[in-house]
Amino acid sequence: MQNQHMLIGGEAVAANGGTTFAVTAPATGEVLAEVPRAGATDVDLAVRAAARGFEAWFRLRPAEREAALLRAAELVAQEGHARFLDTLIDESGSTISKARGEIAYTVDLLRTAAGEARRLYGETFPNDDPRRMSLVIREPLGVVGVVSPYNAPLSLLTKMCAFPLAAGNSLVIKPSEETPLTALAFGRLLLDAGVPPEAVSVVTGFGGECGAELVNHPGVRCIALTGSTNTGIAVGQAGLNRMRRMQLELGGKSALLVLRDADPQQAAKIAAQGIFTHSGQICMANSRIVVERTIYQPFIDALKVEAEALFLGDLRDERTVYGPLINGRAVEKVLEHVHEAIASGAQLLTGGEIMQGLVVKPTVLLDPPRDSRAWREESFGPVASVVAADDLEQAIEIANDSDYGLSAAVLTNNLQWGMHAARRIASGAVHIGMHAFQSNALAPIGGVGLSGMGRSGGHYSTEEFTEVKWISVDVGSLPR
Ligand code: NAD
Repeated sequence: MQNQHMLIGGEAVAANGGTTFAVTAPATGEVLAEVPRAGATDVDLAVRAAARGFEAWFRLRPAEREAALLRAAELVAQEGHARFLDTLIDESGSTISKARGEIAYTVDLLRTAAGEARRLYGETFPNDDPRRMSLVIREPLGVVGVVSPYNAPLSLLTKMCAFPLAAGNSLVIKPSEETPLTALAFGRLLLDAGVPPEAVSVVTGFGGECGAELVNHPGVRCIALTGSTNTGIAVGQAGLNRMRRMQLELGGKSALLVLRDADPQQAAKIAAQGIFTHSGQICMANSRIVVERTIYQPFIDALKVEAEALFLGDLRDERTVYGPLINGRAVEKVLEHVHEAIASGAQLLTGGEIMQGLVVKPTVLLDPPRDSRAWREESFGPVASVVAADDLEQAIEIANDSDYGLSAAVLTNNLQWGMHAARRIASGAVHIGMHAFQSNALAPIGGVGLSGMGRSGGHYSTEEFTEVKWISVDVGSLPR
């Protein structure tokens, strides 16, 4: 077991008062490290450091910010496995393939964000008074408080940090209390890449303590939160008190539509990937599957085969599809959703129980009531609910009967049906011919309804993490 310090203004420090908390491995229960349990004083130091760091970072030329982010990308490309692989597997219960995927995506995100450093484009617009000229410029916001989740602790954190940094902001990062070790390693990497020490701090602690202190701190100009909808509502209310810019990437209950022309076997394979990857601990997991009635039976037969064939072994075994849920509370919640749905009339096609430790078997429910928690709420576990629809219109209506709208997907070979559904489904993204869990560093990722506010990725992030300013000038005395 190693004890770790947090990173404030480039210094490795303990929490004020010296309190710590344990980080455990969900697969084994082993204590991996004790880390500082930060509170108000620590957060205040970090925000003050970030305010000074902002001056240093923002004043660099765009090409210098780009170069630092490219160096960070190269460090991850060359040393990513040594720096992150074991930590990701141990701390977050990721399989080796999911951990490798996160590292690869991190490189891509850092390279993409680096390019954005040079693209803080502005505008001019015509003025009826010929002596006057108007410019619109983009400026960074200042200190961004980054509050991140546990499920993809490296790549999501990277997305939340790299784009605001590219735009010239400084950061105070509050990672999930489940996965602070990955975040500390990422913070150190940014400093190794040449980001000024005061521009990035990582404070470790609990949401209700350290997280709440950060989102309420008067020196923070913007909050970027990726987390559950309940947290988003609490953070959003705190943010409104100070009229902060907020980017809230929250929960999902994504629908996958399987239309009548789809191949049932192929559709079941895609559906299983879309729900069971990382035990369903993916915001975009297609936990609701709506199947046209004519292929319902062959589809559920094939999905049962797929679910029962998944290999769930050691996290470092290449064949393992998924591992444990993050903690015992997560397992309890998932099983509660399943048992309640069965008690209210759903049929259990497969699974519905613990395999071992915190690993829940791949679970498929048929026809849970539309008001059940398994259908309406995010279980954040390996549980798919399947219902039949008479036709495309009814499938769309069922998909839209949700408070969430993060991602959706349609399996069909008929592009017209797919496009019709894509335009009618209320969701931040709709994917045709694939499952709902898709990433792209340039894409505007974000949701509608309870799935959040704002978009991240590519230039959409630049817009989120900058403010526009109108500058007008009287050029009347200049020659025209
Ligand atoms: P969570 O809401 O429990 O925690 C997220 C972060 O918020 C953690 O760092 C936590 O400590 C902090 N936090 C909690 N309460 C807080 C408070 N009152 N003030 C300030 N900070 C607080 O979420 P989680 O369980 O870590 O992550 C899973 C959730 O994240 C799921 O709902 C998932 O759908 C969502 N998620 C969304 C996206 C997306 O892109 N929309 C991506 C990944 C995960």
